[in-house]
This record gives sequence, structure tokens and C-alpha cells, in this order.
Amino acid sequence: MGKQPQNSTDKTIQLFLPDAQSKQRFPDIGDLASRLRFSPSDGEIWLDDRRMVLLHNSSLASLRQELIETLGAEVARGILSRMGYLSGMRDADMVRRVRPNSSDFDAFAVGPQLHSLEGFVAVETIVMNVDVEKGHFYGEFIWRNSSEAEEHIAAYGIGNAPVCWMQQGYANGYVSSFLGRQVLVREVECKAMGHAECKVIGKPLEEWDDPDRDFRYLLAQDFVQSPRAKMFSFGQTRTAAESRNEKINLVGVSAGFNTVCHMIQRVAPTRATVLFLGESGVGKEQFARTLHNISDRAEQPFVAINCAAIPEQLIESELFGVEKGGFSGATKSRPGRFERANGGTLFLDEISTLTLFAQGKLLRVLQEGEIERIGDTHVRKVDVRVIAATNEDLRALVETNKFRADLFYRLNVFPVKIPPLRERKEDILLLVESFLNRYCAKHKRKVTGLTESAIEALMLYSWPGNIRELENIIERGVILAPEGGGIDIVHLFTSGEIIDTGHFKIDSKGTLRNTSIKSGAIEATTDRLPELLRESLSNGGISMDMLEGMAVDVAVELAKGNVSVAAKILGTTRARVAYRLSGKKVPHPPED
Ligand SMILES: [Zn+2]
Repeated sequence: MGKQPQNSTDKTIQLFLPDAQSKQRFPDIGDLASRLRFSPSDGEIWLDDRRMVLLHNSSLASLRQELIETLGAEVARGILSRMGYLSGMRDADMVRRVRPNSSDFDAFAVGPQLHSLEGFVAVETIVMNVDVEKGHFYGEFIWRNSSEAEEHIAAYGIGNAPVCWMQQGYANGYVSSFLGRQVLVREVECKAMGHAECKVIGKPLEEWDDPDRDFRYLLAQDFVQSPRAKMFSFGQTRTAAESRNEKINLVGVSAGFNTVCHMIQRVAPTRATVLFLGESGVGKEQFARTLHNISDRAEQPFVAINCAAIPEQLIESELFGVEKGGFSGATKSRPGRFERANGGTLFLDEISTLTLFAQGKLLRVLQEGEIERIGDTHVRKVDVRVIAATNEDLRALVETNKFRADLFYRLNVFPVKIPPLRERKEDILLLVESFLNRYCAKHKRKVTGLTESAIEALMLYSWPGNIRELENIIERGVILAPEGGGIDIVHLFTSGEIIDTGHFKIDSKGTLRNTSIKSGAIEATTDRLPELLRESLSNGGISMDMLEGMAVDVAVELAKGNVSVAAKILGTTRARVAYRLSGKKVPHPPED
């Protein structure tokens, strides 16, 4: 890299555009618009492979108003921000398919252009400075004709705070997903404050002084933490509250994650037994810990035990304690986990592995609040809230008499299903950000973020090991990535994860190839070209003329409108390409 210092600056697009005349133009929107399809006979609208709906802005506005009136502006803002955030993330998925070989600026433009196409706002760039590889972003944009501001003004008049909440959420979701690191876009001027137009500024979360002022709206519950919220410099002393918060590892914005958060919020203040269900690695213990921390037992002990990790013959003494001489080798009395958790919460992970005998004793604690140490003659009262967890189907175990039915019904009072990571992929980048902070601090390393192909891989991978696997892979990436550089795919998936999943693989050139998801990328389709042709030709839906026209269109797109370059790609003459294009609207005037 030192050989060609020019190269690194070439990759950074720096645009400082003081007057409106010299605004950097977004590329032609045709490639995006052509992916919007109306199918009235099926009652469907599609944007690429995502189903859309066409809503009246006024009905969205009345929903917004009702949220504000019934829940208050703070809560309404959170809901709308998160809704926008998810749309922004979805639209970011399209970038690599639509503009795979474009400059960072043209690729980035997909978001603002889609946001305009979807009818929310017109975006103009004032300043933009993006380097995907270095994880660098600084942008200032003008939002014209904000639909949200217009409706807000109609309902509430001019106020003193920005109101384009859903749009700000969209921008946060889009830019963060595009860049692979958490970026905060903040609205600094708003039409609803009396400004001529709305204005936003975007930069990475940690470059803001008080990011949580806006970022907190992306988090559904107070106890969910922002990925940058718990940053400590070395040697800094921590308060007790901070240390406790550090144990909380809940990060996410997805619908599945929010549902779980709402449920634990609801059940925390009660005494009910809670049963967490979900695959291993989904974070059952983190949820249990959080439930404890937001309950009125927070100051009392939280004791966790993995029932599967303790030998069968020891589990009873471990849980219920033992009296001296209770069994051979028990040379002195000691309390079990139940007694140690007295007044607080006991978390029993992998509950299905308990022996039937231990299950009976557990049932007695839940029913009577009493335990009996092994070898003891009297019972002891305990006040313990039990949170159990399992990745097995307890009902099936009941049917095969491996699990007591009465205990099952007792535990199943409040079941909470935690979705696997592959069903809450919207949370991956937030989790990554949080793990990056943790492991960069732990291993004293500095990395700039993730490369585009690394993000793509994280999104496509099916995560059989869930969040635990993601955490391990990010830790590995932090260690393997070059100091001060970005984490690439080769730093993450080093032990055959990708190939094993069958969802996608890396070919000999190191290119990621998706084998299960439909991809519009030209590269991926080339291999399948003969097959696709056979399909199209046999249906009689395609002619030689159309084929040539399509090839020219794609080449011109790849060449960014430069006809000579397009001709070179096609291996034909400039005149022929120009002829094909005559009468058509050319996206960009040829530069030659
Ligand atoms: Zn605004």
C-alpha cells in the first residue's frame, strides 16, 4: 500500500459543495425505479424482493398523531424511529445488488434515492465524505419536502424541536447498515421548527458528544443498552451501577427482540416463574439477568447454574445443599444454590437435564418455598424466584416420561421464546458494534470496522450458534484484523463455518457466492446464464434483439454511461452501442 499513496486517497470521496449549483448529483434513479413493480391483480407491490404497500400520507399522519396523543411524544418518537430504522436497513440490502461495482458515492446514493422514491423526502447533499473501507463517514444533507414535517406542522404547528423521527430512523438504519458500523444521523434543523428545510448531519456514534440523546430512541426499553453506551477507558473506576449494567448485554432493535423485552418488562415486577425457550447461544442468561436487574430483587443475589454442566450425582447437593455426613465424602455442611439465592433469583439453565428425583425436589420448592438439604432432617424456608431455560421441547419430554408433567406446567406459567439470531438479523450490526468495543478494549486493539464483504457474510450466514457464535467470531476478527484496519471476511470465518452452512460459499478467488438466496448480482448470474436463457427461450418470451438490448443496458450501467467503456466491456464497437442507445434515454451523457 505504501507504494501507491494515491490509491488510498482515491477511495475517499470528499465533497464540499458550498453552493446549490455544484451539488453532487445522485446517479440516474432508473435502476432503482425499475425494481418497483405494481401487481394489482395479485394485490401486491414489490420493491426488488420486498413487498411494499402504498399508504395515504394522511392516514400515516393520523396513526402518528394517535401514537403521540395516547403514548406521549417520547414513546411515539421511539416507535416511529425504530420503524424507520428497519426500513433503512432493508433498503441498504439492495445496494450490493443494484450497484455492485459503483463508487462509494453512487452506492451510498441508493438510500437517499429510495427514500425519495418511496415518497418520504427529497435528499440533497451538502457535504459528504465516505470511505467504506476505513469506516469513515461524515455527511450533511438537506431534506426537502419532508412528508413527516408537513403533517406534523398541520397537526401541531411550528415548535422548537425537530420532528422527522421516522426519517431520522431510516437514515440511521440505512447509513449504519451501509457502513457496517453504527452511525448517528441527527436532524439539526427542521421545517417544523420554522427552518426553510430540514437539515441532518451524520457521523459515527462515538464522534458525537451525546449520542444517546438520539440513539436511545432506537432502543425499545430503558434496560437495552446502546452499543457505545458503556465505553470505559483503561484504569477508569466503575460505579456499582456501571458494573451491574456491564453484565447486561441486551442490544437490539428487531421486532422479535422487542417482543422479548416487552415480555420481561411485564413479568419482572411479579413473582412468577419464567421459562426461557430458545436455541443455545441466543442469550437466555443475559435475558434472565436483565429480568432480575429490573425486578425488585435487583439488590439481592442472582445465582446462575447450568444443570447440564454438573454431574448427575452432584446436581442435588449443588442445588439443595448437603448436611455433614449426608453422603459419603460430605465432610461438612454447605448450603446449595437455592439457599445462596435466598431473597433473589435462581437461574436454572438446561433444566431438561435434571434427574426426575431432582425435578421432584424442585417442584416442592416452587410450590412450598421449602428445601431440604441432603441428609438433613428438617426443611428450610427459602424465598427464591426461579427462572428456567431450555433449548429442548419440554412437552415432548413429558410425553416420553423424561420430564415431570406437574413441573412442566408449573414452569410454563410464563414462557418466553427468544428468537434465533437468523430471525433477528436487524440486530447483527448493533451486536457487532457492541462486541467490537468490548474486544478492542479487552485485547487493546484498534480496528476501524468491517469491510463490505464481511458485513455481507455476517448477514448471509445462518448462525447456528447464535449470538455466542457471533461474539466469538467478532473476537477472532478483532485479533486477526490488521491494527488500525478493517475486519475482513478472512478474519471472521476461519474454521469452515460458511461452507458448512450450505447457504453460501467462497470460491477460489475469495469471492462470496450465495447459493441459496436469489441474487441480482451480475457476477452470480453469469454462471447460470445458459440455464436462464434456456428457460426464457423455451417460454418464447425473449428475442435476439431483446437480448442484445439487455446486454447493452447492463454494459452501459457498468460503464456508468461511458459508451466507449461499455463497448469495450461488450467487445464491440462504440458505434454499435451508440446505435443501440439512439432513441433511448441514456442515464448519463457519455464522457468521451
Ligand atoms: Zn424535519
